[in-house]
Amino acid sequence: MSQAPASLSTWARHISPSPTLAVDAKAKALAAAGEDVCGFAAGEPDFDTPVHIKEACVAALMAGRTKYAPTPGIEPLRAAIAEKYAADHGMKVAPSQVIVSPGGKFSCYLAILATCSPGDEVIIPAPYWVSYPEMVKLAGAVPRFVLADDTTGFRLTPAQLEATITPKTKLLILNSPSNPTGAVYTRAELEALVAVALRHNLFILSDEIYEHLIYDGLAFSSPATFSPEAEARTIIVSGFSKTYAMTGWRLGTTVAPAPIAKAIAELQSQISSNATTFAQFGALAALKEKGKTAAALAQMLTAFDRRRKFLHTELNKIPGITCQLAQGAFYLFPNISAFGLKSEEFCTRLLEQHKVAAVHGSAFGAEGYLRLSYATSDEIIAKGVTRLATFCAGLKS
Ligand SMILES: *Cc1c(COP(=O)(O)O)cnc(C)c1O
Repeated sequence: MSQAPASLSTWARHISPSPTLAVDAKAKALAAAGEDVCGFAAGEPDFDTPVHIKEACVAALMAGRTKYAPTPGIEPLRAAIAEKYAADHGMKVAPSQVIVSPGGKFSCYLAILATCSPGDEVIIPAPYWVSYPEMVKLAGAVPRFVLADDTTGFRLTPAQLEATITPKTKLLILNSPSNPTGAVYTRAELEALVAVALRHNLFILSDEIYEHLIYDGLAFSSPATFSPEAEARTIIVSGFSKTYAMTGWRLGTTVAPAPIAKAIAELQSQISSNATTFAQFGALAALKEKGKTAAALAQMLTAFDRRRKFLHTELNKIPGITCQLAQGAFYLFPNISAFGLKSEEFCTRLLEQHKVAAVHGSAFGAEGYLRLSYATSDEIIAKGVTRLATFCAGLKS
């Protein structure tokens, strides 16, 4: 039994596990041990799934919808998703262009696998969602980062994009509204980026999971709606997790040009098969019972908006912190560079000394920042930000 184990794969040895899930797990472990933790680390709504969605799922389960479904999703759900894009964006989407996958995270990975070969380069604007670089590397492709910091409102400029493109660039990943910054591109800004991408014949992965979580009356826009050329190069990834508080259901969606959708369905047929069959009936109710869904979403948005403004105001009162008022998702991304600490050390000490969980900016490719999720109660936000102020005052002196 003393034989050394065979070495693990390149993929296994080089993967960095999700730091957001890790910080959240550490915070939850502290809380379970009886500590009074203020958690700003979670990347999910603190609301429960609306009841009409749960009921539709339970009914499907009890009716025996417990078998394999077609790989790309149940037909009525694919049709309802196609209708959603027609109604919201005037797009002409055939149900065959829609793929339902086990989570938006998996949808992203399949989109990368469908478009990138080993050695291809993928442009990832930083701060980025933690999973993009790892997924690109798992596909054998090469992530190319370009930092869009708070001097440009965390939004990539066309000149920055142009300067990062090489003959090997295959794919541009865009995520508006953004996790981790909450930044939302205007239509004009996106159009300028898309024009550059099209000129260089790139694919665009548009991660639109926060499409419906936008504040201040700002309009959402998708690159796929700009022109037929843009639509032919754009893969829209979205899902039910964030909009409908359904993170645990694992339901992601992809809308892609027909040849890409076909490739994604074929990849999925070998890697996972269909997303959970009865869960898809819950998602169908989310799209079909529009009145109930809109009411639940409005309630969630009102709470998020109130917390967003409160947290933003309180953060900016803390000497040394500057924070922009993000207009989407449920995150703020304050600048803590004035304290001269690495963001990871800042977060470790904040959690250990003051029991406040936040994720370090370096996890998202942006040193000198923190990600704070305000998808938590008003009470925890108030208490947590007070503790943060105490911590910062201690660092200053
Ligand atoms: C949460 C999230 C996803 C996907 O979430 P799933 O729960 O896997 O559907 C994708 N992209 C971003 C930026 C996210 O924050």
